[in-house]
Amino acid sequence: MTKILHRNIGTNLPKAVAGEGIYITDSEGRRYIDGSGGAAVSCLGHNHSEVLAAMKAQMARISYAHTSFFTTDIAEQLAEQLVELAPEGLDYVYLVSGGSEAVEAALKMARQHFVEVGQPQRRHIIARRQSYHGNTIGALATGGNEWRRAQFKPLLPETHHVSPCYAYRDMQTGETPEAYAERLAAELEAKVIELGDDKIMAFVAEPLVGATLGAVGPVADYFKRVREICDRYGILLILDEVMCGMGRTGTIFALEQEGIVPDLVTIAKGLGGGFQPIGAVLLSENIYRAFAEGSGLFQHGHTYIGHPIAAAAASKVIEILKRPEMMVNVVKMGDRLQAGLDAALGQSPYVGDIRGRGLFRGVEIVADKDTKQPFDAARKIHSKIKTEAMQRGLMCYPMGGTMDGKQGDHVLLAPPYIVKPEQIDLIVERLAAAI
Ligand code: PMP
Repeated sequence: MTKILHRNIGTNLPKAVAGEGIYITDSEGRRYIDGSGGAAVSCLGHNHSEVLAAMKAQMARISYAHTSFFTTDIAEQLAEQLVELAPEGLDYVYLVSGGSEAVEAALKMARQHFVEVGQPQRRHIIARRQSYHGNTIGALATGGNEWRRAQFKPLLPETHHVSPCYAYRDMQTGETPEAYAERLAAELEAKVIELGDDKIMAFVAEPLVGATLGAVGPVADYFKRVREICDRYGILLILDEVMCGMGRTGTIFALEQEGIVPDLVTIAKGLGGGFQPIGAVLLSENIYRAFAEGSGLFQHGHTYIGHPIAAAAASKVIEILKRPEMMVNVVKMGDRLQAGLDAALGQSPYVGDIRGRGLFRGVEIVADKDTKQPFDAARKIHSKIKTEAMQRGLMCYPMGGTMDGKQGDHVLLAPPYIVKPEQIDLIVERLAAAI
């Protein structure tokens, strides 16, 4: 047994030896369709020739230069591309090395921003239950996944959680989406008032909840109501697009479909198309100005920020994502995936909901379709589905039995954007057989 304290390394999982397009091959020669892009990472598939070429070319020039000594053309080029790509109003960028780092940086940026503008008492973070924002202590405290947080308490004491927007489970019979959005906004406002309306720093949410709920999107107007509350009380809105961003839902940013502009956005995963260390925080003029007119310095930094090779990968990923056919394929294949899952699993007594946008789809498994009762968590249905799917040559991202003891099992699908119709049909066939 390998002596590595690392989840799954040294276990008897298959060994990945090669990757190409939407496939990963293991040491026994078995081929798996990467139906989840790993964890919604491989947006362009494995070993994309243009991305590899860009990385190799960069490697031959300069592969590492610490940011306290140098800037590089490639990091500056990436920053410009990101700002050009971002929705209007998010005109500044801070590069980081991954998803948790992006969340951590956004939180610290928000905190220091309020120090700079003379409101240091604004320290409270409100996020949502059953959410995941990363594994570093600040990001973990922000996440609302109780079982993950439990053993690390006390965490940041100033983190609080309200209900997620989860229509399948929480929208009441007869309630309209507008009334549901209104009810959730009222809950958020009540929390703000309870904590002290001049003490709240930020509200943090994923536009579509990935890892914890399985591609659960908001009802119409939810984020508009949230934005109103944030504006009313001077709270910064941080949207975490680490998983659902970079084209995953059919628009480059999932928030583009919500008709609002947040103050800070975190991205990673798809940005590197599978290569690290890369992530970023996009920020508004308002935040930038507080630093520019204040101390002039964001008190933060990590060793691999703006890493040239990762920046070369991300720069090429962005160039490719901007080709019109990419988002067209995400929407088309996403629709095909939804239709296929509906046809294959819609009638299953164990499938309660099939949802999502673009190539970000979730299947919720229930023990009883009428009552929406989940399976007992101890049965670990989600991990059995994963094993069954792997045996059929499909990678899908399972989660469940873990959501504060309340929700059950979900399977997330997030294939690369280059996926073809017949491959979508195979994903559906294999997942249905596994379930
Ligand atoms: N935020 C969200 C929404 C995520 O899904 C994840 C990773 N699953 C993270 C943050 C953390 O990213 P990383 O694992 O790159 O630190």
